[in-house]
Amino acid sequence: MKRSLNDLAAFGGSPAFREPLHVGQLNLPSWERFQAAFQDIFRRRWFTNHGPLVRLLEERLAEFLGVRHVVCMTNGTLALMVSLKALELRDQVIAPAFSFPATVQAITWAGLDPVLCDVDPVRHTITAETVRPRLTAGVSAILGVHLWGRACDPKGLAALAREHGLSLLFDAAHAFGCTHSGRHISGLGQVEAFSFHATKVLNATEGGCATTNDDGVAARLRTIRNFHAQETFAWVDMRLNAKMSEAQAAMALLSLEDYPLNAAANRESLLAYAEGLADLPGLRLILPDAGEESNCQYAVVDVDAEGVGLTRDELTRLLEAENVLARRYFMPGIHRSPPYCRTHPQFVDALPVTDRLSSRLLQLPSGQTVTREQITRTCELLRFLVQHARDASRRLAGNGRGRR
Ligand SMILES: *Cc1c(COP(=O)(O)O)cnc(C)c1O
Repeated sequence: MKRSLNDLAAFGGSPAFREPLHVGQLNLPSWERFQAAFQDIFRRRWFTNHGPLVRLLEERLAEFLGVRHVVCMTNGTLALMVSLKALELRDQVIAPAFSFPATVQAITWAGLDPVLCDVDPVRHTITAETVRPRLTAGVSAILGVHLWGRACDPKGLAALAREHGLSLLFDAAHAFGCTHSGRHISGLGQVEAFSFHATKVLNATEGGCATTNDDGVAARLRTIRNFHAQETFAWVDMRLNAKMSEAQAAMALLSLEDYPLNAAANRESLLAYAEGLADLPGLRLILPDAGEESNCQYAVVDVDAEGVGLTRDELTRLLEAENVLARRYFMPGIHRSPPYCRTHPQFVDALPVTDRLSSRLLQLPSGQTVTREQITRTCELLRFLVQHARDASRRLAGNGRGRR
C-alpha cells in the first residue's frame, strides 16, 4: 500500500508489482492437451496445406459463429488483405483512423487507397453519419471496425452501402464471440475478418479467418489464400500464401474449447475493474452493449484529465513505473502515423474525435495472466493516484524538468 507520494515508484518508491502486468489475453490451453494435439500432428506429418485440423477448425468456427463460410488464414492482417481482394474493389476504401494500424495497412497492401474517417464519440466506431461526408465517386467500399467488440453501426452502414452501391466489410479482430442483436458477430458485412493473435481471446499464436455468407466471395477468398494454380475455385487476378498451419489450428481448436471459460474470466475481470473504479472521478470504464454478450477482451478506461487531475499520459507514466503496463490505445491515430501522415496529409488535422479519443483512452491489464487480486490492487493504486493527482502531476512536471 502506498501512503505518500514518495512511495510511488516514479518518485523513488518500490513498484506495486514485482513482475510487469501486461495487456493482451495470452490465454493458453493446458499443457497436456497441447502436447497431445502436437503429438498427433507429428504422427501424421501433415503440417500445413489444409490439413485435418484446419478443416475441423473451419467447420467448428462456422457452427459457432453461425456463418456459411469460414476461411482460415495465417493471421488477421492477411485475412483483411485477402478479404479486400476477394471483394474486387477499386480505388478507395473508407476506414477509421481510430483502429489498430493493420486495418489501414491491409487496404494499402491490397492495392487500394484508404480514406480515413472520423468516429462517433460514444461508440468509438465509424457510423453512417461519420462516413457520409467522405463519400465520393472514387469510393468503392466501407471497412468498419467492431471496436472493443461492439458492433460497428451494421444497420446504418449497410443502408448507406446499399444506397451508394458500395461493398461493406468489417475488421472483427476485437469481436470474436461478441453478439449483435443476440447473434454472434459475423455476416454483418459481405466479409468479416477475425484475428486469432495470442493477445486476442481466441489464441492460435498467430492466426485469423475471413467469414462470409456469399459463395462467390468464399470461392475467391479460398483461391487468393493459396498461390497454387491447382487450387482455383474462382477467377482472381492476384494470389499469395495466407494458409493456416496445423500447429496454429491445433492451438485455435483448444482455445475454442476454452472460449466459454476465458470469456467468463474476462467478464469477471471487467466487473472487478468496474467495481474498483466505480466512484473514482474522471475514470470511466468502457462496457459492452447492454443485452449483448461480449468476449470482454479489453478493459479500456476513458480518462478525463479534468476529473482525474492527471492527464492520460501522466497516469500511464505513473502506472508504468509501478509495473502496470497499461497501453495508450490507439496512440497516435493512424492519420498521424507514418506513412499515412505523409502520404495522406489531408487527414492529419481532419479527425477531431479520433484525436480526442487517442489522448484519453487507456487499456488496462487483463487476460489469463492477470489475477483478480492484481486487478483489485491496480484499482487501489488508481484510487491513490486520483487522490494525490494534483501533487503527483506537479512532481512529474518537476521530474521532467530535472531530466532535461
Ligand atoms: C489484432 C488486430 C488486427 C491484426 O490482426 P493480426 O492477427 O495480429 O494480424 C487487425 N485489426 C485489429 C482491430 C486488431 O486488433
